Amino acid sequence: TALLQVKDLQVRVEEREILHGLSLTVNKGEVHAIMGPNGSGKSTLSHVIAGKPGYEVTSGEILFKGEDLLAMSPDERAAKGVFLAFQYPVEIPGVATMTFLRTALNAQRKARGESEYSTPDFLKKVREVAASLNIPQDMLRRGVNVGFSGGEKKRNEILQMALFAPSLCILDEMDSGLDIDALRVAADGVNALRSPERAMVVITHYQRLLNYIIPDVVHVMSKGRVVKSGGKELALELEASGYAQFEDAA
Ligand code: ADP
Ligand code: MG
Ligand code: MG
Repeated sequence: TALLQVKDLQVRVEEREILHGLSLTVNKGEVHAIMGPNGSGKSTLSHVIAGKPGYEVTSGEILFKGEDLLAMSPDERAAKGVFLAFQYPVEIPGVATMTFLRTALNAQRKARGESEYSTPDFLKKVREVAASLNIPQDMLRRGVNVGFSGGEKKRNEILQMALFAPSLCILDEMDSGLDIDALRVAADGVNALRSPERAMVVITHYQRLLNYIIPDVVHVMSKGRVVKSGGKELALELEASGYAQFEDAA
């Protein structure tokens, strides 16, 4: 079975329908890009998959590893292996990044019926993963995302992703607010986590990110639907011709 199956999904926010019958299938090992103009519903889709409150699913279903994802709480989804990197990471003053990571990781392990990491085991693991991503130790001692640059916030999310080892990573506009060097570092981090056991959904407005994270499949969203799917060349085509051609089709 596919890792993720979104079938004819209709979603409302505050009485307004935002997704109008969206379908998407992602197999493990694949990297999918979702492109589309602002307001086409890309973030809404990622929020509904992660289980963010405030969205009403009026029709359709989402299966994750064949199970009904919509019946699970956000924490259960995370424990099952769904990871969403937010477009705007939250700052948590007064909570050291290290403490946050440990609490979140242990909560997930507990939810999966696995034993929690001891302090030395956790420290060893987080240091290894941080080093592999070139994340300085001092970042781990600072408050979560407090005073982090755009690039540091992204690296912090990639660190979380590496620690949680999710089977589905959704990256919503991870390129927003990054200069080209920070983008490259973040993309390298994501590429390092590509694996045959893991799928990624990379949401982006611009083609640029896809020069660094090469997708297997590209989808174009317009007005709450997937209006076209293709290979990586579709992203280049869009860069040349823009989204206007799909506005009428939707
Ligand atoms: P994208 O990520 O593609 O830019 P979004 O999913 O953020 O698109 O938004 C899709 C549409 O849903 C937009 O018209 C937006 O105004 C609307 N929308 C999103 N979130 C809300 C909300 N919380 N309340 C009302 N409208 C919303
Ligand atoms: Mg937007
Ligand atoms: Mg968005």
